[in-house]
Amino acid sequence: MGARFQRTGFCATVAAVLVAVACGHQTSPAMDGPKAASPALASAVAAPAAETTGGFDGARAYKHVEQLVAIGPHPAGTDGIRRAQTYIIEQLKGFGCPVEEQDFHASTPIGDVAMKNILVKIPSANPNIILYASHYDTKRIDKFVGADDGGSSTGVLLELARVLCGRKNAQTIWLAFLDGEEAFNLQWVDPDNTYGSRELAASLALSGTLRHVKAMILVDMVGPANPVFKRETNSTPWLTEILWSTAARLGYGNVFVNEGSAVEDDHLSFLNRDVPAADIIDLEVPYWHTTNDTLDKVDPRTLAITGHVLIASLPELEKKIR
Ligand SMILES: [Zn+2]
Repeated sequence: MGARFQRTGFCATVAAVLVAVACGHQTSPAMDGPKAASPALASAVAAPAAETTGGFDGARAYKHVEQLVAIGPHPAGTDGIRRAQTYIIEQLKGFGCPVEEQDFHASTPIGDVAMKNILVKIPSANPNIILYASHYDTKRIDKFVGADDGGSSTGVLLELARVLCGRKNAQTIWLAFLDGEEAFNLQWVDPDNTYGSRELAASLALSGTLRHVKAMILVDMVGPANPVFKRETNSTPWLTEILWSTAARLGYGNVFVNEGSAVEDDHLSFLNRDVPAADIIDLEVPYWHTTNDTLDKVDPRTLAITGHVLIASLPELEKKIR
């Protein structure tokens, strides 16, 4: 994956946009554990009201991140990821989402590893598919819980599922919780990465369904308190434009910035098969792939901004691929 850069002087800029952002904060009211007296209230303090972010509840998304972090490290093929799978599937079923499990085996540097993509397929009369995706595995590093890298985007996707499964949509919408994005080795060297997305894209190509997937939108590392989402330059320009222009319209122009950056991620598995795809990611965080990627790095407001942009961009996306 891409190089990391230090950001300076950014906090004040974002603080002007996101009122009451606690830059560099280590604790927040939302840090109360799941057994706190009033956890819903604690999270609601830190996230904007769902009515102001397209019905997407940043506090709910944050609670999912909290639960995934509480599971502990969950790299592909471990007991930890089986607990994460149980959590994700139970939540999705609780939202009334139709859930499918795609079990497969991957050949990795440590041998054959059983993996599982978790899919939600929300039907509609329109065969066109819009696919949202996140990886939920964590990097195979001792004591690494991946609150931002793996957790944040999975929390966003779970909350997105709650919203989208509970309403009628103009197009068929799929959500993919992908296994095995992270490299087993410390370094990111092909083909030791993106096992889940490559399996999903290959199986859809084989069944002939892939041609119906008109847009694949990936979220990854969408949790930091001072987010900078650069236009990912491998991504399909028109799809990136819809997302970034929606963000600008909503007042998030300082978060979804016009600067470009190339990132290798799960969206490449679809781009390589000519499916339009885009990646929303802030890879330039100092805690990336370190044990400092902990819950205090995740801000419910950033989850809410990401979810708001995904939901608010849907009408324009539907118009484009109709
Ligand atoms: Zn990672």
